[in-house]
Amino acid sequence: MDLPFADLAVLIRSLGGSAADLAGVGSVHQPRSVPVKGIIHHTPGSPWTFRQRAMAIGAGTPADDLERLDLFLAAAFDRREYIGGYMVGQRVVVKLEVDDRTTWHSGALSSQHYGRDWRAWARPLAPGAPAFRLHGRDPHVVYDWWDARYGADAHPARVFGWGRLPNRCIGVDLVPDATGGYGVLQLAMAAALTALLARVHGIQLDDRHVTTHSFAAPLERGSVVRGGRVVGMAWDPPPAHFDLDEHIERARAVDSTLT
Ligand SMILES: [Zn+2]
Repeated sequence: MDLPFADLAVLIRSLGGSAADLAGVGSVHQPRSVPVKGIIHHTPGSPWTFRQRAMAIGAGTPADDLERLDLFLAAAFDRREYIGGYMVGQRVVVKLEVDDRTTWHSGALSSQHYGRDWRAWARPLAPGAPAFRLHGRDPHVVYDWWDARYGADAHPARVFGWGRLPNRCIGVDLVPDATGGYGVLQLAMAAALTALLARVHGIQLDDRHVTTHSFAAPLERGSVVRGGRVVGMAWDPPPAHFDLDEHIERARAVDSTLT
């Protein structure tokens, strides 16, 4: 099954944005073996985004033409190996792949580090090649932000309907604006996309089916290094800019308007 691009375009236009379809170009992906199980939100990160925007502006795109900047970003993003199925820019929602193909956007939870004592491990965001490590701190302090939502005894592979394979979800990347955050229109477009995808694929609008990469894969997206030690922090996408509960509420509001 696939969310028809025309339906997406109509809904996004009604909000004041636009939609673009790049599903036929870019990286090639394999057909799904099981139906879509959920939606995982990501950020491609500010460093990459700011670099690409600077390149677009250097190549002649006006700095205030947010639509063209989004399309430049999407074309560059679509060539990467690890992408979600959709990119939500400041003005444009871009379909990067049809829903019934699996893109690689959030690795498996089957690694040895996701055992019963997964909270003892971390693969923090750090300069150079990040590596899994035993962080040596109180596991429930490092992952307090995860426990607060899903429970101190819980395991991501059991919380989420996709088991150990988050790529059974559709990935949605929100590209940060110049401030590193997301605008009102962008968040509204992301909610509309979630509502439509949920309808098409029968996904429940709750935090066990609609989540962030940090919640879905806390070891890889849930810590940073500060002063030489591992500190728990969700960053994909940053919760200061993307509030999951508010996002789900907004998606439910859109859902109530769909026929
Ligand atoms: Zn991610």
